[in-house]
Amino acid sequence: MLVGLPAPAVIGKTAHPVRDSLRQALKNLAAYALDFFLPRLCVFCEAPVEVTADTAVCGSCAEGIPAVTSPLCLRCGRLFPWRQGQDRTCHICRQEPPPFAKARAAVVYEEEGPTGQAVKRLKYGRRLEYLPVLQSWLRRPACLELASQAGVIIPVPLHAKRLRERGFNQALLLAQALPGVVLRDTLRRIRPTRPQTGLDPLARRGNVQGAFAVTRPWEVEGQNVLLVDDVYTTGATVQECARVLRAAGAREVNVLTAARTAPPGVAKAGFGGRGKVTPGP
Ligand SMILES: [Zn+2]
Ligand SMILES: [Zn+2]
Repeated sequence: MLVGLPAPAVIGKTAHPVRDSLRQALKNLAAYALDFFLPRLCVFCEAPVEVTADTAVCGSCAEGIPAVTSPLCLRCGRLFPWRQGQDRTCHICRQEPPPFAKARAAVVYEEEGPTGQAVKRLKYGRRLEYLPVLQSWLRRPACLELASQAGVIIPVPLHAKRLRERGFNQALLLAQALPGVVLRDTLRRIRPTRPQTGLDPLARRGNVQGAFAVTRPWEVEGQNVLLVDDVYTTGATVQECARVLRAAGAREVNVLTAARTAPPGVAKAGFGGRGKVTPGP
C-alpha cells in the first residue's frame, strides 16, 4: 500500500499548520486513490493481482508454490523422497536425535523456483516486497499452531557485521509475523561465520559451532522456545542454536522456517496439491 511521505519541515514565515496538514491529507488521499486504481502486480510474473489477494502474488504463481506435506520425519521434518506412507522418525534422527523437539516448514525451497527466488531476492537483493510473501507462508495453519504452543519466539540471529551490511535480519522480520512474544536479543551470534551456502553438511556444522550464545538465560529458562529462520537446509544452524538454548535452560525448542529443502523431485511429485499445507503432527 502506498503511503504518503511526511511533509517536509517548514521553517520561518512560510509555516502554516492548517494549510500544511491539508496538503498532507490531499497527498495521502492521492496515494490511496492510486493504490486503488492501479492494480498491484505479482512479484513473480508481474500479472495483475486480485484486489482481495493477501499478498502481491497472482493465483497462478500461488499455485506453483509447493507446500510441505506428509509424509515427513516427525522429528526433523525431512520430506521423504518416496511420497507414500505415514509420517515417521527418519533414520538420522533415530541414530542421533537433534537438540530440538521438532522442525517444521511451510513451503519447499526450490533453488530455481519461486520459493528460491523469493528467499534470495529478499535476503541478498534486499527486495523487501518479498517479505510479505514469506510472512504469508508462515501464517499457514500448521505454522500458526506451532507458534501458539511457544512461550517465546526467537529468531536465528545475524552477526552485527552482517546485520550492518544487510540492514535487516530476515529471521526477525519473519518471527514478527507470528503471534507471540518475540525476543530479539536473547540469542546472539558472537562470532562471524561464513555463509553456509556451498559448504557440505560437516563443514556447515563446524562453521556454526560456538557461534551462538544466550545473553539473558532467565528469559528462556523453563520455556518452550520457537526458533525461527528463513530456510532449513541441513539444519546445522538451528541445531547449534537449539543446543545453546537447551544448555541455557530452555525446556523445549521447536523450529519453524518459511521454507526447507527437499530431495530432488519432491516438490514436483504432485503430493497433495501445491499451495496447500497438511499440518504435520
Ligand atoms: Zn504471478
Ligand atoms: Zn529426522
